[in-house]
Amino acid sequence: MNRVNYDKKMQEIIDGLKGKPRLYLHSCCAPCSTACLERLFPYFNLTVVYYNPNIDTAEEYALRAAEEKRYIKEVYGDKIKIIENGHNPQVFEEAAKGMENCKEGGERCRVCYKLRMEYAAALCNKEDFFATTLTVSPLKNAEVINVIGEELAEKYGVNYLPTDFKKREGYKRSIVLSEEHLLYRQNYCGCRFSKNRLNENKEGI
Ligand code: SF4
Repeated sequence: MNRVNYDKKMQEIIDGLKGKPRLYLHSCCAPCSTACLERLFPYFNLTVVYYNPNIDTAEEYALRAAEEKRYIKEVYGDKIKIIENGHNPQVFEEAAKGMENCKEGGERCRVCYKLRMEYAAALCNKEDFFATTLTVSPLKNAEVINVIGEELAEKYGVNYLPTDFKKREGYKRSIVLSEEHLLYRQNYCGCRFSKNRLNENKEGI
């Protein structure tokens, strides 16, 4: 079965744009957003949606949110808006109930992607687009993320921009930009389960 090239799909949509539509970009963190913003900025009026109730502690949430705001301010000034409405970890805990033992990349992650992407989709008017930075990570399955995006677009009657930001050296570029701007780069995905797994690995379990 041929895999869908979501990066090519993105470029085709961009080539067909008339004007510069609004795009709500769900962002998981500043480092991942760097290369995505660079790629989208010439074509869209961007609003970054920092909605991540999956993050395990209030401190970690605040740190990642502050870095996202700092980066946008440093590079784009006031040209990119940001929406950030607080942590709300109970939303994630509720959604992840019964999936505590799922492996990373499994059903709990699918639910987590959807939860966060849906927040951005729900902000759109019908002519707007939404997308997510999640596809820049080589650890995340772009197909799973893009299928969720297409389902949400249908549900809300809005436009989803398919992406595979890791393509064309996107992930490498995110590392370069993160280093240039001295961004905090966390070593776990975000939820308490991913933190536990990290700690277990450190202990050699
Ligand atoms: S590992 Fe990452 S994507 Fe999966 S549930 Fe945790 S925070 Fe969400």
